Amino acid sequence: MELLNLDTIRADFPILSEKVYGKSLVYFDNAATTQKPRCVLDKINEVYTTQNANIHRGVHYLSQKATMAHEEARQTVADFIGARSSKEIVFTRGTTESINLVANVFVERFCRAGDEIVFTQMEHHANIVPWQMAAQRAELVLRVAPINECGELILDELDKLLTPKTKLLSVAHISNVLGTINPVKEIIQMAHKKGVRVLVDGAQAVAHSGVNVVDLDADFYVFSGHKIYGPTGIGVLYGNSELLEELPPYQGGGEMIQNVTYEKTTYNELPYKFEAGTPDYVGSVALASALDYVKHIGIERIASYEDELLQYATSKLLEIPDMCIVGTAKHKCSVISFVIDGIHPFDLGTLLDKTGVAVRTGNHCAQPLIDLLQLPGTVRVSFAFYNTREEIDYFIEQLKRCIAILK
Ligand code: PMP
Repeated sequence: MELLNLDTIRADFPILSEKVYGKSLVYFDNAATTQKPRCVLDKINEVYTTQNANIHRGVHYLSQKATMAHEEARQTVADFIGARSSKEIVFTRGTTESINLVANVFVERFCRAGDEIVFTQMEHHANIVPWQMAAQRAELVLRVAPINECGELILDELDKLLTPKTKLLSVAHISNVLGTINPVKEIIQMAHKKGVRVLVDGAQAVAHSGVNVVDLDADFYVFSGHKIYGPTGIGVLYGNSELLEELPPYQGGGEMIQNVTYEKTTYNELPYKFEAGTPDYVGSVALASALDYVKHIGIERIASYEDELLQYATSKLLEIPDMCIVGTAKHKCSVISFVIDGIHPFDLGTLLDKTGVAVRTGNHCAQPLIDLLQLPGTVRVSFAFYNTREEIDYFIEQLKRCIAILK
């Protein structure tokens, strides 16, 4: 496989040449959000400068141009994740809104009191709280699938939790804390054998591994634009069209309707039924530009390079005394959480920041998992394809200095 040209790639991301506290920025917080290439920044500027008009409703030139760009973006997303049709792509504000949407409409349509929803011990709050809220509304029972000491799902245990009462399994493709890559294809097959539908939280996966929703046979697949080099405020809900057709709308308003009288409304066709109000038609187009950029570099090359960074950083971290890496699954992506005996993660993160290294500390919006592991939080480094071995070397050197100060 051809190697990445890192100088060219890094030049595409203007923020990477910013200084923090007079030092070169080392951005290792990619699991929280990714930086944006110039093509995405330019696209946002271009849309507002040359074609801004509200979409779908206008007869005039600009509105038609903006509408076309938004719908082309939808097709780009569909192609990127291998959906059969752009009708299966609902634009949302992000992963969180996508899961809330499903937790509302799926539960309304398919669940009765006493039915069960299953998620796992490694989920982000965005894949826990909406189910708790839905469970409260509809008197559902929630079941939580356990993980082993490496941070891998225990598939036999998960299988046992899927019963005739289970209506949906909601599972992360990749854990934002442990880096574990879950075998979602196998999990979906296991669930489908029992008639259980599956939502995959792909927030951490789309930017790091090729995703094909048809091959996975996912019922729902959700992700956020900002984690794949696109803008904030735009995200995706993929839903199998047969299933989406059966679901009631989420929010009411303009765009999601076919006909409205004071008494009654009929709803629009897919995907507009789920898109009430003016959508983020700038975000969608900029997201498509990000996906084109990723496609141009090649997701396999990205995954393979990031895996090299993961292996390199892991081996360097393990040379540090009292180092404990949290999450040692066999299949991992470029997210490393760690703790150092006797040092609070927050203190390490704060000192590292002063050296120009941006890491994340805390519970990473997965408090139940951090509590389960009986940790005060972790330090998390997460890599993107614009990161380098030299940055890892610098980080390790600074980390050692910070540990020496704090010990
Ligand atoms: N799920 C996972 C696994 C995540 O990592 C995140 C973001 N940290 C989310 C859901 C929520 O994404 P967003 O805040 O973009 O909606």
